[in-house]
Amino acid sequence: METEILVVTERTCKDCGTRLGAGRDDRLYCDEACKTNFNNRRRRENRKAAETQKGRNLMPSPEQLSVPDYINRIQEILLNNRRILEGLCNPDKPSRVRLRDLLGKGFNKKFLTSVAEPTTTGRVYHFCFEYGYFEDGDNGWVIVVFREREVN
Ligand SMILES: [Zn+2]
Repeated sequence: METEILVVTERTCKDCGTRLGAGRDDRLYCDEACKTNFNNRRRRENRKAAETQKGRNLMPSPEQLSVPDYINRIQEILLNNRRILEGLCNPDKPSRVRLRDLLGKGFNKKFLTSVAEPTTTGRVYHFCFEYGYFEDGDNGWVIVVFREREVN
């Protein structure tokens, strides 16, 4: 007794996935529109991948940086942090902002110029040069402050 195995490969359009049905075996798309669409999409994706790769090459990892370049990078972060705090600081009275918004502006909490010992009330001041902040309770708000310049 013989068993007949019928293999049916269902051919579908590479672009839209529509079943192609009977037709020439080498058909890959419903029509020219689907073919064009598929090729355009692939070209876009390739270009995007190439740009991502280029972006990675432009931004070396910290380990790849020379010492001066590494120091420059940290300086940029510190200056950016200072600029963000300066922009939020109200000279007349401490301004209350959401920590989330601070971070949303690109503030990098890891890089500060000093962190003061907790005060008697438990406040920990984080400074970037003459601007700083402390957390106002546990609710995600901070108070941005200004202090006199000091170097020792
Ligand atoms: Zn199609």
